Amino acid sequence: MNAKNISQKILIVGGVAGGAGVAARLRRNNENARIILFEKGEYISYANCGLPYYVGKIIKDKSDLLLQTKKGFSQRFNVDIRLKNEVLSIDTAARTVTVIDHESEKTYEESYDKLVLSPGASPIRPRLPGADMPHVFTLRTIPDTLRISEFIEANHPRTAVIIGGGFIGVEMAENLREHGIDVSIVEAVDHLIGAIDTDMSYDLHNHVRAKGVRLFLNQLAQSITEKTVVLASGLAVEADLVLLSIGVSPETAFIRSSGIALGARGQIIVNERLETSAPDVYALGDAIGVKTFTGREDAIIPLASPANKQARLVADLICGIPRTYNGTQGTAIAKVFDMTVAVTGESEKSLTRLGIPYLKAYTYSNSHATYYPGAMPMFIKLIFAPSDGKILGAQITGYETVDKRIDVIATAIRGSMTVYDLEELELSYAPPYSSAKDPVNMAAYVAENILSKKTSPFYLNDLGSLPENALLLDTRTVGEYERGTIPGAVNIPLDSLRDRLSEIPVDKDIYITCQIGLRGYLAEQILKGNGYKASNLLGGYRHFQARETDLAGQEKTNRECTVCGMEK
Ligand code: FAD
Repeated sequence: MNAKNISQKILIVGGVAGGAGVAARLRRNNENARIILFEKGEYISYANCGLPYYVGKIIKDKSDLLLQTKKGFSQRFNVDIRLKNEVLSIDTAARTVTVIDHESEKTYEESYDKLVLSPGASPIRPRLPGADMPHVFTLRTIPDTLRISEFIEANHPRTAVIIGGGFIGVEMAENLREHGIDVSIVEAVDHLIGAIDTDMSYDLHNHVRAKGVRLFLNQLAQSITEKTVVLASGLAVEADLVLLSIGVSPETAFIRSSGIALGARGQIIVNERLETSAPDVYALGDAIGVKTFTGREDAIIPLASPANKQARLVADLICGIPRTYNGTQGTAIAKVFDMTVAVTGESEKSLTRLGIPYLKAYTYSNSHATYYPGAMPMFIKLIFAPSDGKILGAQITGYETVDKRIDVIATAIRGSMTVYDLEELELSYAPPYSSAKDPVNMAAYVAENILSKKTSPFYLNDLGSLPENALLLDTRTVGEYERGTIPGAVNIPLDSLRDRLSEIPVDKDIYITCQIGLRGYLAEQILKGNGYKASNLLGGYRHFQARETDLAGQEKTNRECTVCGMEK
């Protein structure tokens, strides 16, 4: 019998993404192992990521959420699955776990040769007065989902407040709107989806508002009453239903007494072989602390893709196959009504925190050739190293094919590729799918222009601090300019720029804007070729306008709250 097929007794705690994945791979690796899986809930291997869409009735049949049943899984993989069995504690010296069977209410011990911990993370329930009322929910499990759906069926709530505007919060906003409910999101920081930077959130906010969701940004919920959520500002937002989605916390209370090392937030500390501090005890998934792939920062990144990859790795390691976990990139994506928001790698926020230098490029591109019907814009922020152009991170908002662009960049980051590599990527093209210069190539071209100093970019946030001798030059057409421009900008359209150079004072620093940054780049080259000092606004007027619309939306919400009699 080879090392892989040694008969060992392996216990797994947690039967969803990580735990079920370990069990299946273990069995594929080793036909002789005795595998016991404990799951305190009543389901294994279900699609938690699909739960919001069951609430919205996009997924209509509960059975579609069940990727596996106890019977099907145990038959196929010969695993002893114990549902409603909760592991209460671990004795790492005796190599046993204590378990309660919630059906029989009996407690028993089980010994192990190897122990795998994948208990996940549970929604944080803030200590808000009123948070335990029957119309206040969290969403993690199938029973949570059924409770929300049943409440909607029985009570027909007119209004809902979602506290927390992360991925689950915005997905739930869309799915509650499917029921015609008036939804508000209360978010503690200045933008939705904390994984992206503030400057990538404007289009997202505008879209969410256009879909009838009210956003209370930079606002803290302070208490919940039967009909409202009261904010720290004093505002009372109507809520027949409340969803708490302010994040998750590793579900590791049962591990505390074992002596297995936990971090400050309760995360299980593991090494690059996903071993805990106790011999023969492995851990994975939402419950562990990881290193970020690029920044090597300690983090908790609760996502399904890393949990599944870690599951394969743990099973291999237990079977003597050498593997290493190289860190989590945090590649994530969400459908937000008709929009898609996606992120991978480091953000400006994280790089600033880590003190890692970076440069950034912004590009608006179309999802495919504009002459083929249906092309939709997407906005890409590409973040890269000033020294060698190594790609550090990316964020994309758009409507179509955002997923494939973020995945190309995610792959590039995993391969430690640079902006120069990204320029060279030969990506599939025909008019219905892309352009001969794919949006990813375009982002890289702009990044390369920045690295080679062919362009001197400036950004939306710089507009408030331009030097005194700055001349803001709008190079769009007269018609575009008249429909709206950045305050203080003078207009010389790109195509008449060479003829009108005499109108531009030579002692001024020229800050150019256009619609998205493309015509501005051409104008920048013309001006530089004629001896001017010029730089170009990446993202252009469009990015500016998105921010203005967002700000106006925020002000409108504030005004309406006063007018409609909400308490202040
Ligand atoms: P889980 O899948 O949560 O499994 C842990 C299991 O362990 C639970 O069933 C729990 O009951 C059980 N357990 C805990 N303690 C014990 C104990 N003491 N004894 C026995 N059993 C125990 N990620 C994405 O990447 N994309 C998405 O679109 C996405 N959408 C999501 C939507 C929702 C609503 C939710 C809740 C999560 C979503 N996630 C998404 C996150 C993803 O589901 C998790 O990252 C993934 O499930 C983590 O796997 P895990 O095994 O660590 O934990």
